[in-house]
Amino acid sequence: EVANTDVEEYQDTKMMLDTINTIRTFGPDGEEAVAGAFERVSEIDDLFNIYDEDSNVSRINREAGQGPVEIEDHTYTILDKSIEYAELSGGAFDPSIGALIKLWGWGSDNGPSLPSQEEIEATLPLINYEDILLDEAAQTVEFNQSEMMIDLGAIAKGYAGELATNHLEDAGIEAAFVNLGGNIVLLGDKPDGTPWRIGVQNPRSDRGELMGLVVADTDYYDNRLAIATSGDYERYFEEDGEFYHHILSPFTGQSVDNGIASTTIVANDPVMADALSTGIFVLGIEEGLELAESIDDFEIIFVTDDKEVHLSSGLIDNFEVLDDDFEIFE
Ligand code: ADP
Ligand code: MG
Ligand code: MG
Repeated sequence: EVANTDVEEYQDTKMMLDTINTIRTFGPDGEEAVAGAFERVSEIDDLFNIYDEDSNVSRINREAGQGPVEIEDHTYTILDKSIEYAELSGGAFDPSIGALIKLWGWGSDNGPSLPSQEEIEATLPLINYEDILLDEAAQTVEFNQSEMMIDLGAIAKGYAGELATNHLEDAGIEAAFVNLGGNIVLLGDKPDGTPWRIGVQNPRSDRGELMGLVVADTDYYDNRLAIATSGDYERYFEEDGEFYHHILSPFTGQSVDNGIASTTIVANDPVMADALSTGIFVLGIEEGLELAESIDDFEIIFVTDDKEVHLSSGLIDNFEVLDDDFEIFE
């Protein structure tokens, strides 16, 4: 294949999904394709935004504890996938975590604060993805517990990334870079013939300071690659000298404190990458690597507080450390 360094590029950035999103295309007709892709992202934002009382998810949280609620196609699909990844991660990723997120106050007007142990224990029984009942024929959802709430914050950006990328592909775009708040989807090969190089944030440094790079071309993947990171540095607060962040354990109700600073998932499926970046952060290094080695669908980069890097085997030739404070353990 001949490298083409003279290809048109188009890029646009928009705030949606409570974050910064960038889409870049290579080749002709990028502007219209990117505008359409952002429309898809905006539709998902409208459906899944728990901070908007009129969203589909807010309505579900008010009504599904009382009986079946009819839902939109996208909402049905994402709930179905959410349950799939809850099962795959043994409940470490759990879309029914809403009541716990609300208890901690993540995203609330007053900001987050530390709940009491009693409050946490009273909330824990409300978290159980098996109590989300989907009826495919009727296209409804119902909760088995009246006070239960869903939160799709750990999977919505992956789903929106998939729809945006589908739109670009349908519009005839052959190569693109989609970044929805750190949930990246690569489409095709870069036209200049070089591999994609995707930075992994140094979790203990300023934004944009990278600790390493995922280096990939389509010899490594099948026309589409997703790279999603969950980090303890994204949203956090300090109280009485302790540090609490926004990834919570569905098992203990606590902000996860297991030595992990960030978890990056590399997968073909953007929804899987987003859901598992959160779930495998909760599972920890040992169980996470065991799961990654047991199925072919995804790879992991763990970065710890001690600046250790733990990689699953399928990434060993496709990851470069840039900052030599960090050391790879295989
Ligand atoms: P970010 O949104 O910062 O990219 P994640 O993809 O990891 O990070 O999603 C974190 C969000 O997911 C939290 O803000 C919360 O809304 C929700 N969440 C936190 N813990 C869990 C969990 N164990 N399972 C499912 N969702 C979670
Ligand atoms: Mg996630
Ligand atoms: Mg994420």
